[in-house]
Amino acid sequence: MAKHTHSYTIREVSEAMQTVDAVYADAAATVATLLYDSRRLIYTAQGLFFALLGRRDGHRYLDDVYALGVRNYVVMAGRTDTSRFPDANFIVVEDTLRALQELASYHRSRFDYPVIGITGSNGKTIVKEWLMQLLSPEHRIVRSPKSYNSQIGVALSLWQMDASYDLAIIEAGVSEPGEMEPLRTMIRPDMAILTTVGPAHDDGFRSREAKIKEKLQLFSGTAKAVYSPNDTAGIPVPSEGVHITWGSSDATLTVVGHAATAGNRCTIHAKHKGVDVAIDIPFTDAAARANAVCCWAVLLAMGYGQEVIRARMAMLQPVEMRLQMKKGINNCTIIDDSYSNDLASLHIALDFLKQQHRHPIRTLILSDLPGVAEGEVQVYDDLFKLLSDSSINRLITVGPVLGEFKGAPNGIIRESFADTDALLASLPKLDFHDETILLKGARRHAFERVSAALMAKVHDTVLAINLSAVEHNLNQYRSLLPKQVKLMAMVKAFSYGSGDFEIASLLQFNRVDYLAVAYADEGTELRKAGIWMPIMVMNPQPASFEALLEHRLEPEIYSFAILEELINTLVSKNISGYPIHIKVDTGMHRLGFAMADLMQLVQRLGDAPEVKVKSVFSHLAAAGDAQHDAFTVGQLTAFLGFTDRLVGALQYPVLRHIANSAAIQRWPQAHLDMVRLGIGLYGIGAGSGNALQLQQTGTLKTVVTQLHSIPGGDSVGYGRHGRVTKDSRIATVNIGYADGYDRRFGNGVGYMLVNGQRAPTIGDICMDMTMLDVSSIDAKTGDEVIVFDDIEEQAAAIGTIPYELLTGISQRVKRVYYYEM
Ligand SMILES: *Cc1c(COP(=O)(O)O)cnc(C)c1O
Repeated sequence: MAKHTHSYTIREVSEAMQTVDAVYADAAATVATLLYDSRRLIYTAQGLFFALLGRRDGHRYLDDVYALGVRNYVVMAGRTDTSRFPDANFIVVEDTLRALQELASYHRSRFDYPVIGITGSNGKTIVKEWLMQLLSPEHRIVRSPKSYNSQIGVALSLWQMDASYDLAIIEAGVSEPGEMEPLRTMIRPDMAILTTVGPAHDDGFRSREAKIKEKLQLFSGTAKAVYSPNDTAGIPVPSEGVHITWGSSDATLTVVGHAATAGNRCTIHAKHKGVDVAIDIPFTDAAARANAVCCWAVLLAMGYGQEVIRARMAMLQPVEMRLQMKKGINNCTIIDDSYSNDLASLHIALDFLKQQHRHPIRTLILSDLPGVAEGEVQVYDDLFKLLSDSSINRLITVGPVLGEFKGAPNGIIRESFADTDALLASLPKLDFHDETILLKGARRHAFERVSAALMAKVHDTVLAINLSAVEHNLNQYRSLLPKQVKLMAMVKAFSYGSGDFEIASLLQFNRVDYLAVAYADEGTELRKAGIWMPIMVMNPQPASFEALLEHRLEPEIYSFAILEELINTLVSKNISGYPIHIKVDTGMHRLGFAMADLMQLVQRLGDAPEVKVKSVFSHLAAAGDAQHDAFTVGQLTAFLGFTDRLVGALQYPVLRHIANSAAIQRWPQAHLDMVRLGIGLYGIGAGSGNALQLQQTGTLKTVVTQLHSIPGGDSVGYGRHGRVTKDSRIATVNIGYADGYDRRFGNGVGYMLVNGQRAPTIGDICMDMTMLDVSSIDAKTGDEVIVFDDIEEQAAAIGTIPYELLTGISQRVKRVYYYEM
């Protein structure tokens, strides 16, 4: 993590772990930063790289990491020829993840201030952030960045501890049996907290009891235990210390009830040791109430008086857990993370900026860090070190403390402003254009005003794309693939309607092997946005060959005619060995060479040095449909026969691929050398086959523009097709068939969610608007409306498939992106 205030010699590091062997080129070297992801290297000079065996074996990236300047490594025995890196230090261990945890544990043991550990199914991050807000008047708190609560995340979180703090709050997340013990050993909490536990048992556990038992292991050995007996299901909490409970009738803090108050607030009434007490919080939903009561119990456990608790609870602030990416003025992209500002979250945001590197110029607008006083230069030293390793070109600071800290890391242009008003007044002069702007501001600097000023006007109707869900879905499919199988991601038709370079950048960052688009101009756009990875074009028209060659796009070749046209172009340009992909028709009967073309094709390719076959592929017509499994087997057999002959004749390595999303799930024998992942990436899986936990990636949203109360017997919309039989309330929303909301959804066939409840359409769908019956819903103008909550069900209702609904959302509907942490 981005902390630089402590360092260890390489010898100390090796003594902290169970070392098998050590090779020192420079025994005096010191390390200060823990690295494990070759894509996220920072502070390389004092970095220590752990080669972990995750989905990708870290040992495979040592050359890259070495090239970037890292000279200290922890590797597994027998996996690395250390003599290849003569000037690097190597610590050899049995298990690199355990070594990382041992080092974190050693580091933690050097501090004797209290450590609070938090676990639970929901609310861990919110409770942690709220405790930070509630306790910061007395304490200098170090905490897990965002939701860093995994086996690696906890180690990195603890690594941030140093002598300038007096309290640590660390999250611990588990998803399988056996995971808590290593976390507990590292954290060794003085106080453990259980936030709420959901009723379902998450994937990894046999039962809800097993899940709770695992989480409760965090409590063993703690001096204080805070939990609700409602969540522990009668399982004894393994702490010999003081138990401070909340929720149920015999708890330390018994909740009696709650009542909404003006301004979206809520009062929670409780009994503490027989005395009536209450807090008032600026939230009303059940999750927020539960989290607030949990924090309340923690404060009581820490000895806070009710008056102080009440005053602080009243000022709780929402916790923003997403980075939003939006279109800005003058072709800028705005990455908005304006609600948290500390080095750790800045580090995460800078990573995201590196991934979404659309524009050549990258600007950071940064406010003073909260809780850092004037004259405390260490933090700002760290900040500048972090920035000097980032890709930032332009730094704009806001606030007096940063203003005092002059200068900027090499090559970064710096401007500073006393406060947000001064920045806003100077916006025209700052002349932002064609750049990516990261906004990081502490809450009191109100950067939402900066964000509003920099944003292009967005319609009320947007498709919000969750980039972390796309990443999650990718990893779900990857978990089904053997390591050596490559992955091509289908980003045709604006990534099935989900956007273009944003998704491609994410996939490139996640080291997908290939992208595929339908047309050359889609590929050209991706190249212009900085996508450098290989791209296949499925429908290359001869007219687009120039663009194809200019942008290193690789055509699908499906007929002799297109092959000859391409060869002619290549000859005229004196190009040889140009990458192509051969498509074979094994039964889909769409595009592709016929099976009977084999001999002629082998011959033609044999004397065409202008092209080089990168891959040969075919498409399954019904991979997701068990009814046609015999047909699918036939396609696969035909394909293998064809490719054996073709690849044999070519005498150089050629990738073979046939599996789409459904086949990845249902046909492991079709994975071959590469798979082509399409709709699954966007959250829609096959009904059968290997079960995957996919997440919805897009939410189509609009707003209520007007409400009408109409008497029974009236009609709604064109042709008077919508009839009401009783007095009704009708909401008009800002989406119509020109936005891609199908006309077949009209007259009650479709529905939208208004304040979480289903409101059926009434009357015909108009071009830009739709009317909903909200008679039984408490709706007002400006309310958010979710257009599709279950896209599979809604597609079925009008006799189509999710693909058509997704790709049909018109380009006039603005896409906005966010990333959850
Ligand atoms: C679109 C497409 C895919 C992806 O199919 P999904 O069903 O969306 O996974 C794979 N291969 C080809 C040739 C395609 O056109």
